[in-house]
This record gives sequence, C-alpha cells and structure tokens, in this order.
Amino acid sequence: MNTNTITKLLIVDDKPENLQALEAIIRYEGRQIFQASSGDQALALLLEHEFAMAILDVQMPDMNGFELAEMMRSTEKTRHIPIVFVSAAGKELNYAFKGYETGAVDFLHKPLDIHAVQSKVNVFVALYQQRNESRRQVLALEISRAQQEALLKDLHFAQEELQRAVRMRDDFMSMVAHELRTPLNTLFLESQLRTLQLDRNNTEFFNETNMRKMVERDRRQIESMVRLIDDMLDVSRIRSGQLSIRRQPTELASLLQRVVNDLSAQAVSSGSHIELEAIEPVTGMWDQFRIEQMLINLLTNALRYGAKKPITVSGVVKADSVHIRVQDRGIGISDENLQRIFAPFERALNSDSSGGLGLGLYITRQLAESHGGFVRVESVVDEGSTFTVVLPLTET
Ligand code: ADP
Repeated sequence: MNTNTITKLLIVDDKPENLQALEAIIRYEGRQIFQASSGDQALALLLEHEFAMAILDVQMPDMNGFELAEMMRSTEKTRHIPIVFVSAAGKELNYAFKGYETGAVDFLHKPLDIHAVQSKVNVFVALYQQRNESRRQVLALEISRAQQEALLKDLHFAQEELQRAVRMRDDFMSMVAHELRTPLNTLFLESQLRTLQLDRNNTEFFNETNMRKMVERDRRQIESMVRLIDDMLDVSRIRSGQLSIRRQPTELASLLQRVVNDLSAQAVSSGSHIELEAIEPVTGMWDQFRIEQMLINLLTNALRYGAKKPITVSGVVKADSVHIRVQDRGIGISDENLQRIFAPFERALNSDSSGGLGLGLYITRQLAESHGGFVRVESVVDEGSTFTVVLPLTET
C-alpha cells in the first residue's frame, strides 16, 4: 500500500496492556498505530508524523492527557489533530479539557465499549481522509489553474510571435522583391539598350572593350542576385537546423589575403581602402568557404557603413583561438541598435536604404557559432565599429 494512503493513529497510555488492548480494537487495514507510553514520547512522535487522530489516556503520571492536549493545541503542527480522551472517571469530566473549542475532542470511558471505540475512530479517520482528499483536489485544481495560466501566457506569446513572424515575412517579401528588382531592372535596361543597338545594326557598340564592360556589369548584377538567394537559403537552413559546415585544414593568413584582394576593387569603387595587418600563418579545422563568407559579410558592411575611410583587417593568434578583426572608422552603431543587428532581417534603425536585407550579421554569427566560436562587436557612433570573429583552434 502506498505510504501516502496509510492513516496514522496515535495512542497514549502509561500502561502497556491498555495500549495493546486499544491497538487490537482499532487496528485495521490501511492504518498504522503508534504507541506512546508517556506525554514526552507522544510529543516526539507528533513532531515526526502526521496523525489522523490521537487517543489519550487522561490519567498518566508526569504529564496527564489534558496537559498533553494543551501542549498539542499550542503547537501549529498538532493544533488540529482530533483528540479522544480515555477516562475511568465519570462523564462530568467531559468538559474538563479547556481547549475543546479549538478542535475536535471526544471522550471514551473505561471499561471501553469496543463498538463505541471503533465507530468513533472510524468517524475521525473518515473525516481525516475526506479532508485529505479535498486538500488534494484543491491542490490539483490550483496546479491545473497555474498550468492553464502558463499555457495561456505561452499562447499569447506564441500569438505575438506569430504576428511578428507574419509581419516580418511580409516585410521580407517586399524587401526581397526590392532587392531583386534593382539588379533585374539594370539587366532589363541593358538588354533593351543592346536590342536597340542590334536593331540599328550598330555593331560598333559591341566592340571588345564595350563587351567586356557589359559582361562585367552583368556579372555584378547576377552576383548580387545569387548572393541574395544564397543568403535566403542559408537562413532557411539555419532555421531548420540544417546548416552544416565542412571542416578541412584551412590556413587563415592566406585566406585573409585572398578575400582582401578579391574585395580591393570594390573597396576602391566605394572610395575606401582595405589594409591587412601582418598575420602569422595559422591553420585550423574550419570550413574555408564559410570563413570567407563571414569575412565578406563583415567587409561588405565595413565598406557600406565605413564612411569611405580606411578599413583594417587583422588576425591575432591566441593560445587556443584566433581573433579576426574587421575595423572601420565609419558611422558606428548605437547601443540600442547593437542589441538588434544580429537578429535576422534586423537593420539598424534610421539606416539608409543602401543596406541589404539584414541577414549578413545573423548568418555570420550562426557560422561562427557552428565553428564553436562567436562574433563580438564594439562600436562608437560616428567613430566606427570593430567586429571580431573568434574561432577556436581546436575543434569543439
Ligand atoms: P545588411 O544587409 O542590412 O547590411 P547585416 O545583417 O549585415 O545586414 O547588418 C545589419 C545592420 O547592422 C545593418 O543594416 C546596419 O544598420 C548595421 N551594421 C552592420 N555593420 C555595420 C558597420 N560596420 N557599421 C555600422 N552599422 C553596421
């Protein structure tokens, strides 16, 4: 039987034979009887157990039944335990116990009438069990109400998230449309211009120099669309937990050099310049393509928001990690915006329309984290920003 369903009863009498006899009368399945031969022993048991009732012999040496009852009434834990006094004296003693008004008190008279004892005990035990059951029900109700409240809160939260997600999706759609529209428009205008020249049989227009320029312009527009679509694919991979990195021995110094070289023409056309500080060769197990992607994101931002001032790239090798820094001296980021810019589709408030979709930093952070690293930013408005990608040298 489960110990929770056992009902404990306390019987107190200084005579062992009385205790034995009483226990024999009230013993029943599901009950556990505790015997105490003195008031002190009874108090010790009362502190340790939770009793459904106590049957106290009135005449005991040292502490009599009434004194014990007074003590029980003065302690919070035992105050409400129903007490049945057993007395050899006449019924006039019934009200001798002053504390009777504070809780259930009853009397039994010696010689004990077995049926009277049993039915009194049964009543008290039933009351105790009912009280326990309703306490349990109240508790269960309270728990279920708390659960409902928590559920409701979750629901509200989910609803707000959903609304935010829907808003974000709508914003996103229009941003994507806008971002794709620009290179597509340029390509469309280019093709119209070329058709016009063809219609006029102006073959000179398609000389080698012009053709090279056209191909270069087309390449730039196509690249910007491909990058946009790749970013969107990366975001959906991140969201579905499918962004995987392919680790291979990657040498950082030459990788930094390569990326800086690749972006130098873009830097010049945006009126800036990228300086690469010397870095000792260091090889880690990283995904080369993804490290390049992070750097390109940070450098593109530095060019975009760097106020045409020089940008510095450095790699510092520490004991168990490398710190790749991209520092610009541009518009900087306010504290308020610093909290938001790593979230997807978030762009700094008041940023002009020259930015992208607000995915670059989100993807960069996710990529650093999937390498076991992280991205940090320090920035002062109008002085510039320093983004640091920290990558562990040992695989984590
Ligand atoms: P975006 O495509 O808009 O540049 P990012 O995720 O790369 O998206 O950047 C999010 C926002 O963080 C940008 O819109 C910009 O407001 C801000 N930001 C990023 N890098 C810089 C920087 N180097 N200086 C100032 N602001 C920056």
